[in-house]
Amino acid sequence: MSKSKHVRVVVRTRPTAELADDLIKFTPDRKAIHVHIPKSVEGGYINNQQEDWDFRFDNLLHNASQEAVYDECVNAIMKGLLDGYNGTIMAYGQTGAGKTFTMTGASENYKHRGLIPRSISQVFREIADRPQLSYTARISYIEIYNEQMVDLLGAIPEGVKGDNGLNVVEDQNGTAQVKGLTVRVANTEEEALSYLFEGETTRSIAEHQLNRNSSRSHCIFTIWLESRSRVESSEKVLYSKLNLVDLAGSERLSKTQTTGVSLREAMYINKSLTFLEQVIIALADKKRGHIPYRQSKLTNVLRDALGGNCSTLMIANVRCERSYIEETISTLRFATRMMCV
Ligand code: ADP
Ligand code: MG
Repeated sequence: MSKSKHVRVVVRTRPTAELADDLIKFTPDRKAIHVHIPKSVEGGYINNQQEDWDFRFDNLLHNASQEAVYDECVNAIMKGLLDGYNGTIMAYGQTGAGKTFTMTGASENYKHRGLIPRSISQVFREIADRPQLSYTARISYIEIYNEQMVDLLGAIPEGVKGDNGLNVVEDQNGTAQVKGLTVRVANTEEEALSYLFEGETTRSIAEHQLNRNSSRSHCIFTIWLESRSRVESSEKVLYSKLNLVDLAGSERLSKTQTTGVSLREAMYINKSLTFLEQVIIALADKKRGHIPYRQSKLTNVLRDALGGNCSTLMIANVRCERSYIEETISTLRFATRMMCV
């Protein structure tokens, strides 16, 4: 089997005191997960007769610390980023499984910082280690809710229901740009972190004012780098970016929830996650000329940082309690499909 895979997939479990170990077993050294669902479990949506499931991933981070998750997920991508290659890290999974904890972390406790603040720190450390190059770092932060993009570093205009006019446009080279997006220069780690907090604040204001649930939207935090040599007189400039994506909760709609706002949200999420999967599968098929990026805002925004020379990593966040076992299987199946490409 070829070693150059398009997407690396790691699973991260959310620690729990009530691990349903008759149903789910982890073998971290073998990167394997075994799940057993007796047929007698009622009312599930996993519509088949299979009782035992075996999964294997690029890595399995069971009860792992934030630091261990960072080391596993970001190191290789970070090196590429400094050398001019794009990367994308996505957290996938049901609401409550730890996507936001993984990406952003808990700000009260320094040890619990997530991948975004840790990546910011490392970017500035790496820049300082390369005095022969002159780097400019920039930050943008976008939320996508029901196929509307919100610029989390821009002002939310009054009267516009959340969509502050962002759109994806293509330039002559076919690269996608988000027109109107605020991209701020960050001269220091502290400045970059302040943009993260500003974006979080805007997001929670929008959440309250517009009465929507943040687990129903995708968030894309992007670190943009531009570098040129200080020693050579060449005009060569390298551009790269790292997208850190907190995806909307992947859970299925409950059977009772078939109308109204939640239904609409769930349909948008379902579609955009399906389109994300389609794009990743199409990218892996070298014979495919056409990649269906335009089907959704999410794939359109990420289009130049998926596949090709880019590093793409998916973190599948799962819960291990009995009552979440079906969502866990659903997440692991999605992650397995990403592994196969
Ligand atoms: P999601 O973003 O997937 O909906 P969250 O990241 O908000 O889930 O996690 C739900 C809750 O579980 C939060 O209170 C979070 O702090 C906690 N949590 C998630 N993962 C971990 C972890 N690995 N260690 C400790 N607490 C966690
Ligand atoms: Mg979340």
